[in-house]
Amino acid sequence: MDALARSLAADQHGDALPQPLLVLVAREAIAAGAPASAPARAEALRRSLLQRVINATGVLLHTNLGRAPVAHHQPPSYTNLELDLRTGARGSRSAHTATLVARACGAEAALVVNNGAAAVLLALAALAPGRGVAVSRGELVEIGGGFRVPEVMVASGARLVEVGTTNRTRLADFERARDDPRSDLALMMQVHQSNYRIVGFTEAVTTRALATLGVPVVVDVGSGLLDAACPWLADGPPPWVRDEPAVRQTLEAGAALVVCSGDKLLGGPQAGIIAGRADLVAACARHPLARALRPGSLVLATLHDTLMAYLRRDGQDIPFWRLATLPISGLEARARDIAAAVLDGHGPSAAAPSSGPAHLEVVTCASTPGGGTLPGIEIPSVGLAIDGDHTASLRAATPPIIARVHDGRTLLDLRTVEPTDDAVLITALASLRS
Ligand SMILES: *Cc1c(COP(=O)(O)O)cnc(C)c1O
Repeated sequence: MDALARSLAADQHGDALPQPLLVLVAREAIAAGAPASAPARAEALRRSLLQRVINATGVLLHTNLGRAPVAHHQPPSYTNLELDLRTGARGSRSAHTATLVARACGAEAALVVNNGAAAVLLALAALAPGRGVAVSRGELVEIGGGFRVPEVMVASGARLVEVGTTNRTRLADFERARDDPRSDLALMMQVHQSNYRIVGFTEAVTTRALATLGVPVVVDVGSGLLDAACPWLADGPPPWVRDEPAVRQTLEAGAALVVCSGDKLLGGPQAGIIAGRADLVAACARHPLARALRPGSLVLATLHDTLMAYLRRDGQDIPFWRLATLPISGLEARARDIAAAVLDGHGPSAAAPSSGPAHLEVVTCASTPGGGTLPGIEIPSVGLAIDGDHTASLRAATPPIIARVHDGRTLLDLRTVEPTDDAVLITALASLRS
């Protein structure tokens, strides 16, 4: 077994698996009576580990691919995570990153937690324990991955007070709930219909109207679009964010608190944000669950960098926004260059696509924001299409390339591919055609 494990180690190149994992693989291969299967098993194990992939799906916030791409460079150094450098006394984890969040969206205060679900849970647990929270029946949503508003409500210890109907909810419905002593309303909550739309005979209450009723309004905007005016983009808001609720404008409309995710349209790491009235944010921070839901310094540092880019109005330094706003002309030029390089690499025979190698073509396509945001929205894009389903071979590339199949062709959308990865696509496409 040791010899087999050692031979596996010799097989591997730069990214050798640690010895205990190779021994495990060797033991499994021998137990299965197939020692020769060991290299394949080692490779399968290596493929199961967390690693960088190339996203050629055109889905900008792909939940399976970690939603927003973020950079995180951190030397192995200490930080002032909970130290006030001015006084030398113990500081707050919220002093730096959360303060930047508040600045970037015009909130009095903010708190950062582990994800959007945690932000909703904490706000409800801290602000409505054992009390009523009014929510429209049209907003009792399931986001996916088990996040269902009625169930989060139960877990938080708050009591759901359903208001209105699935398609129509009016201000008077909320007023009745407020005035019914059995409701004991602590909050009124709006939940953005992130991943679906109710169309037709519909009516909903605006945050501005709801905020007139005298009960604090908490709005779960979901995606974390910080400002509808997108001041971090030179050309202002792209047309596809038009109907998306933004944190700054929701607070301006009178929401007491807004909660959202860090890794959707905010373009940061997985995190949850609670922003709004300072007294309510402080109540959330004091709740015992806040400790259990707090992120670590790696996440705070990464979110910190994302927010600094917002405050510098430098959307090009936020990977999600840079990719989402890449102009078509540049994508087209890259697609043509990639196609030419693939064909060149294969000499004259590849120029005759009908015989032999699969036909490769530059195509227009549509990227999507993804991540359960903006359903039905498409962003024009350009990619490469190759006949047949090659997704498995592309996943086997190094680094793995994730593509999709459309109309019997494998489509690689360049909007979500970093230009520095084009060379990897060229190699992979050339080997598909050989
Ligand atoms: C995505 C989403 C959540 C959950 O956020 P996570 O960061 O995925 O935990 C909650 N509410 C709404 C409206 C969402 O869109």
